[in-house]
Amino acid sequence: MGLLITAECSCGYRHGPLTVGAGMINFDTECYVPARCDSCHDIISADIMNTPATCPQCDGGVTFIVEPLDSQTPTEEIPIDGWVLPDDRILVVDPGPYPCPRCDTMTLHLPVTGMFD
Ligand SMILES: [Zn+2]
Ligand SMILES: [Zn+2]
Repeated sequence: MGLLITAECSCGYRHGPLTVGAGMINFDTECYVPARCDSCHDIISADIMNTPATCPQCDGGVTFIVEPLDSQTPTEEIPIDGWVLPDDRILVVDPGPYPCPRCDTMTLHLPVTGMFD
């Protein structure tokens, strides 16, 4: 199951919905994670299992703004907004704030706007 998020900042920047996680069909091969593209000045969603990850808009390199955690405790409960990646790392999407790609202020949020599977 995956989430749909929208990148929103108080400066007026808004981008989305973005796909986070993966659907039923591709959950063991890819996982989309929010990332920042410094060429587009956008928050996009890139496949963290594909290295190097690239921007779907310009094909350039991206920086993930949500970092997966190493799973040392497999019995630990996965939060509702978290995933276990194909390589067993855990990804939890924090609603923010994050630095905005437009105004460079820590006022970017990633509210969840929907789900898909
Ligand atoms: Zn780009
Ligand atoms: Zn902003």
